[in-house]
Amino acid sequence: MELKNYMEDLVLEKLDDVMAQYPFCCTCDQCKRDIATLALNHLQPRYISSHKGDVYTRLNEMSVQYEVEVIQAIAKAIEIVHKNPRHEKAD
Ligand SMILES: [Zn+2]
Repeated sequence: MELKNYMEDLVLEKLDDVMAQYPFCCTCDQCKRDIATLALNHLQPRYISSHKGDVYTRLNEMSVQYEVEVIQAIAKAIEIVHKNPRHEKAD
């Protein structure tokens, strides 16, 4: 049985777009990973079975439905990570 948390895909898909709107935000791998993790911890997981044939149709529907929620969670995570980066500030 294969289950998949679709929110993971959605967060990773939107991450670069949202981060681009926050030029102050560090874009190193560590911060990106922290932002994605924090955002996912704030979002309710939505599981789908990856074996269903109509999976792409459903992904598109879910994408529209949860887009705003995901973008808000990423934006919030960016601010948290920006205030408390887990490494020395670059500049
Ligand atoms: Zn960083």
